[in-house]
Amino acid sequence: MAHRITLIPGDGIGPEVAEAARRVVEATGARVEWDVQEAGAPAMEREGTPLPDRVLRSVEASRTALKGPITTPVGAGFRSVNVALRQELDLFAAVRPALSLPGVASRHPEVDLVVIRENTEDLYAGIEFERGSVELERLRRELRALAGFEVRADAGVTVKPISVSGTRRIVRFAFDFARRNGRRSITLGHKANIMRFSDGVFLETGVDEAGSYPDVNLEECQVDALALRLVTEPESLDVLLLPNLYGDIVSDLCAGLVGGLGLTPGANLGWEYAVFEPVHGSAPDIAGKGLANPVAMILSAAMMLAHVGESEATRAIREAVKTVLADGRVRTPDLGGTASTSEMAEAIAGAARSFLVQS
Ligand code: NAD
Repeated sequence: MAHRITLIPGDGIGPEVAEAARRVVEATGARVEWDVQEAGAPAMEREGTPLPDRVLRSVEASRTALKGPITTPVGAGFRSVNVALRQELDLFAAVRPALSLPGVASRHPEVDLVVIRENTEDLYAGIEFERGSVELERLRRELRALAGFEVRADAGVTVKPISVSGTRRIVRFAFDFARRNGRRSITLGHKANIMRFSDGVFLETGVDEAGSYPDVNLEECQVDALALRLVTEPESLDVLLLPNLYGDIVSDLCAGLVGGLGLTPGANLGWEYAVFEPVHGSAPDIAGKGLANPVAMILSAAMMLAHVGESEATRAIREAVKTVLADGRVRTPDLGGTASTSEMAEAIAGAARSFLVQS
């Protein structure tokens, strides 16, 4: 039977890289039946909302989605579709591998990291109070009465909740992930010296849970020191476990370590659903021009195929990406070449077909 997968092309460069990934998946012969669901800017235009209910219903039915990036207009009054999807489907774990690839210039040639980011809490929980609002005025009064905290009258406020239960599940997920993937060490990033009651919970819960996993090492590292280690000695790091905001920032940093956002895939996982998407955003600066590197989306599709048990197709795609990058003749502009998104996709699809014929 075919795997039914929801395909959310997204907006900006999303439709271009989604089409590229679809072409490569089809080249592997994997049995996939796509349920294409528009979200983001095109849905906003036609249906007045960037995340129509039908998108969530489709993922609930298929349980698995491949998603392109979706623009979050700054200050437009809409909650980010990406954050909303993760929260609605309780996709609490983001998994973002950053692996050095052949033929891609980078400062550090042997990076093999995985960022595991808590996806539902922290400053991204959406608990916000607008500057000058009645609600914020009440909150200011409460804070003053509770503990004498004085929030400036012209401030806006975002609340940072980090719970033991929310942290425990991501910590266990990270340890199980490390075990399943033969990884030996987890570095937990935090700033518990400053944010004692939010990052403090993240750190304490991580250390508590580590006792049940004696075969995997847990080290803790303040996130600013971690940033330094990442740019000076990334080879010394293995799995990074981070709360939501730091995880978001560090994911892009790790993408930069291995050649840029055009190359790094990702997965958002919960107990029931899985949504695979690249780390990059909708890149409005290059959208619609055929300039986007489709590799991040293609590798996200490979993670999706691994998730549904298509191991041969997964291997074919990963090998094909390496072959095309190592060969170097077909490259998109971000990698110093002149190939278009679809030329790159076609080269990878061809390499995947050859791999499957030979294996
Ligand atoms: P971005 O990742 O879209 O782009 C950052 C830079 O990287 C740009 O110069 C862009 O051209 C380049 N880039 C990104 N992907 C590329 C690719 N595949 N090939 C070649 N170059 C690529 O980040 P941004 O500009 O900060 O965000 C744009 C929009 O995307 C914002 O609205 C943001 O909220 C949204 N966003 C969405 C997601 C998501 O859907 N999961 C993730 C991040 C950002």
